[in-house]
Amino acid sequence: MSTFLESAPNNWHYHLVVASVPKDGSPFTDNFLLSVERPLNYWSQIYNFTAPVKVYIEVSRSDGRLVASISVSGETIIPCSRCLEPAKIVTAGHLKYFFSLKPNKYTKKEEDEVKPKDDQEIIFLDSWENEIDLVPRIWEVLITSLPVTAFCFEGCKGLCPRCGINLNESSCSCEKDDRDPRFDVLRSFVKDKK
Ligand SMILES: [Zn+2]
Ligand SMILES: [Zn+2]
Repeated sequence: MSTFLESAPNNWHYHLVVASVPKDGSPFTDNFLLSVERPLNYWSQIYNFTAPVKVYIEVSRSDGRLVASISVSGETIIPCSRCLEPAKIVTAGHLKYFFSLKPNKYTKKEEDEVKPKDDQEIIFLDSWENEIDLVPRIWEVLITSLPVTAFCFEGCKGLCPRCGINLNESSCSCEKDDRDPRFDVLRSFVKDKK
């Protein structure tokens, strides 16, 4: 087993009881905490959660469907994109899911034309189950809210591209040059052209 989480933790459990969603269209709401005890690996970036994430769920009935709006927020730590020191970031994600019965042969065409918007997804069920497992959805909201880059503080000077020293902590005697050495070849080429 990997030491990093790549899918929802096994100790996450949340089943939406379909009967608890009011028939009059008013929403069923719930909020709770879920802990992310191991570092999470997403697109080779490692996220460490220092506290449980907050989940807010709102489900209502609309046009024979269940509309579930899921928000997940939390605080996580990833290496600073400039200096690699830990950077604390606040994450907040929100997605809407539509649960619907699988279209039958009479309604199929019509259903096919219903294209969900970017932040919406239609999940087809074979039948109205008593409970719907929302854990995979909550996990999806969490991971899609994770930023790829973060800075330990806004003005982080990062590492010296030549000697690797952390320029927030000390300075080095490398040539004071903001240029990225990787572009030196290109630069001389441009000079020659002049
Ligand atoms: Zn930094
Ligand atoms: Zn240096």
